[in-house]
Amino acid sequence: VRLLDGKPIAHAIRQKVQQQAVAYREAGIIPTLAIVIATTDAQAAWYVRSICKAAEACDINALVIELSSDAKTDVIAAELGSLANDPTIHGILLQTPLPDGVVIDDLLSLIPSEKDIDGASPASAGQLLYGLPAFAPATAEAVLKILEYYEVPLPGRRAVVVGRSRIVGKPVAHLLLERDATVTICHSRSRDLGEHTRTADILVVAAGKIGLIQHGDVKSGAVVVDVGTNVTEDNKLVGDVAADVAEIADLTPVPGGVGPVTTSLILQHTLISVDKLTK
Ligand code: NAD
Repeated sequence: VRLLDGKPIAHAIRQKVQQQAVAYREAGIIPTLAIVIATTDAQAAWYVRSICKAAEACDINALVIELSSDAKTDVIAAELGSLANDPTIHGILLQTPLPDGVVIDDLLSLIPSEKDIDGASPASAGQLLYGLPAFAPATAEAVLKILEYYEVPLPGRRAVVVGRSRIVGKPVAHLLLERDATVTICHSRSRDLGEHTRTADILVVAAGKIGLIQHGDVKSGAVVVDVGTNVTEDNKLVGDVAADVAEIADLTPVPGGVGPVTTSLILQHTLISVDKLTK
């Protein structure tokens, strides 16, 4: 069994991103990622900080726009609209959770596809589903990058995804399907979760529930990607998969697995946007 460390993958992506970012700067273009945040949620703040730190290390300008945690839809919409029209902005990330009463669907369409570096808008999701060029949600792409790096074969194999969110579960399932895996999606209403997960050659867990997947829920020799990020009472970051699963299966660590690859891909997508927008 192997520890599927995300850090070497993240490192390789960031090195390339930094070289390209420096080249753009020399040509007078400052690659800029705008992050709109309107919450005091600790996990969201932690995620934004980690993107900013990674951006800085890669010579990408991260512009954090902090709105009040009771901002109304029109205020957030106006901000997204001006970022959409600003030629100095190459990527836009709308951080969740949003203030109470703000409906995300009223906002995501305001992010133009070419700046939608986390593949969050309905247009990006549609393009992705149709196999047309679009940014995939970075977390979903990170899962595939990890499987690719560790040379996990996918065609014809059984993949089980736990979680069906727009930003993780569904796009991961779609990307696995595109690589010819046979995919099952489980969710909060699935009966007998373990019966499904035990069939998996590749198990991707993105539920946000500590200890959801136990030793007995995993087939020996499986490859398990733990997307979950949960903060424990003593302020530690843990995934959804029990640690002893690593005794029988290849497992991504939390932290240090999907997370650093995701942030690197956000930056890589921003540079792809720079390329498209400045051509
Ligand atoms: P979400 O809350 O939108 O979705 C959770 C999904 O899990 C739902 O589809 C739900 O049906 C399913 N689920 C919940 N309880 C379940 C149960 N008992 N059995 C089976 N399925 C169950 O969350 P999300 O945005 O998809 O994120 C999932 C997790 O991944 C969270 O912990 C989040 O913090 C983490 N995450 C990590 C990264 C990263 O870069 N590492 C990025 C995004 C999200």
